[in-house]
Amino acid sequence: MTFEELGLLPELLKAVTEAGYTEPTPIQAQAIPVVLAGKDVMGGAQTGTGKTAGFVLPLLQRLARHASTSPSPARHPVRALILTPTRELAMQVHESVQTYGKHIPLRDLVVYGGVDIKPQTEALRKGVEIVVATPGRLLDHVQQKSVNFNSVEVLVLDEADRMLDMGFIPDIKRILAMLPKERQSLLFSATFSEEIKKLADTMLKAPVLIEVARRNAVTETVTHRMHPVDADNKRQLLAHILKTSSLQQVLVFVGTKFGASRLAHYLEKQGIEATAIHGDKSQQQRTEALEDFKSGKARVLVATDVAARGLDIDDLPHVINYELPHVPEDYVHRIGRTGRAGKEGDATSLVCAEERGKLAEIEKLIKRPIEQVVVPGFEPGSSFSGPVEKARRGRGGADRPEKSAGSREKPAAPRREPRDDHKREPREPRRIEPAKPKLPKLDFDPSKPYESRVSSQDTALPEPKRSHHRPKRPVPALLGGLPKPEPETEK
Ligand code: AMP
Repeated sequence: MTFEELGLLPELLKAVTEAGYTEPTPIQAQAIPVVLAGKDVMGGAQTGTGKTAGFVLPLLQRLARHASTSPSPARHPVRALILTPTRELAMQVHESVQTYGKHIPLRDLVVYGGVDIKPQTEALRKGVEIVVATPGRLLDHVQQKSVNFNSVEVLVLDEADRMLDMGFIPDIKRILAMLPKERQSLLFSATFSEEIKKLADTMLKAPVLIEVARRNAVTETVTHRMHPVDADNKRQLLAHILKTSSLQQVLVFVGTKFGASRLAHYLEKQGIEATAIHGDKSQQQRTEALEDFKSGKARVLVATDVAARGLDIDDLPHVINYELPHVPEDYVHRIGRTGRAGKEGDATSLVCAEERGKLAEIEKLIKRPIEQVVVPGFEPGSSFSGPVEKARRGRGGADRPEKSAGSREKPAAPRREPRDDHKREPREPRRIEPAKPKLPKLDFDPSKPYESRVSSQDTALPEPKRSHHRPKRPVPALLGGLPKPEPETEK
């Protein structure tokens, strides 16, 4: 399958070639013809699958039919609305719109909270066909009457599951009520919960279901392991791992934004270049942190789930869960950062006694045991073999910890962004069965570096079930010239 065979306009083919893409990814091959035909889509695809081009390319083609070069704002009404849960994702999608649409005379704009609203208002008044927006700020513009949805032809809801987690659904419903009934709607989500299906029912008409990633699948090239440790020793263990290994580009997940900054400072004090990214940082601070990490200036990026979601960092070799996520699905999201496109990756979790319930839920979800490795000098106390605490989970999972009491933050404003972590809904406690403690104490040579110690302990994981959705063949550009591409890899 080639982009030409998908029936894309020469202007789009040119942009795609300039972007260096040689062939469509599976989600693109499936979604582009359906979107071009004007059908609604329910798309199951995670970041990293090429889903953005999967909807942006055909959307541009549909709008190109009536593109106007007139300077009059009236000739440039909003014709496509792309809603994303976070600023970062909005920026990335907007970048894609600009990349793929550079040879088509359509105007585009990104609007998100946390920055001055005036330039956005002015740009909207001049007329733009494609608006990429986070919901709260878009509603601010509605209130100011700087935007009008009468001419919207296409609506895209990107990362709908995350929108739901973040409590954006009432905002989405308000926006939906303002859109013309006759329109094309596309909904993308990494997971399809009952709530997502309900939302899809209200906004999609006879949707075509396109799914390229098995629900809650983790890639098979990722090595999972956990180190049991006392909560009080976690940061020392993290520093130990980083100091005694040559791991580069390590993404460390924490539960709270307060914790993210504190941990990054601690690592810095230990002589480990680290930076933090979370919902309270200014846009510029986030961009700088990400650039430092990408350039290698910072070896470690400490992030919260919310802030990390949608970050455009491909092929991360190492993810460390300093704290386990509150909802097991977020473990899959976190780990989705590594082992992409057949590359090797590892996911290490530092787990204290209180987190064993969460660990058991994660193992259940990913349908495989996570190898437990005790690091000498960091053996957990006896509480680790005590009863497992009830894991708490429910809607709004990943974002909840960012509002922890420890962060001493004022409660978020009732509706508006700029913060991308507001409005969480209470979780329902759920009882889980206590996990059997299994702590194989391994006979390490503590003088050996961390990497060589743990790699010798890797165990073979049971062969996971094959999914019929896996890509038939690798996409060379995504694989980045790997010596041995892994065509069977789950994305
Ligand atoms: P996405 O899943 O949309 O976030 O895309 C993930 C990455 O894949 C982005 O960096 C894109 O630039 C890249 N990408 C998208 N489509 C293709 C393609 N057909 N070939 C190679 N790379 C692609």
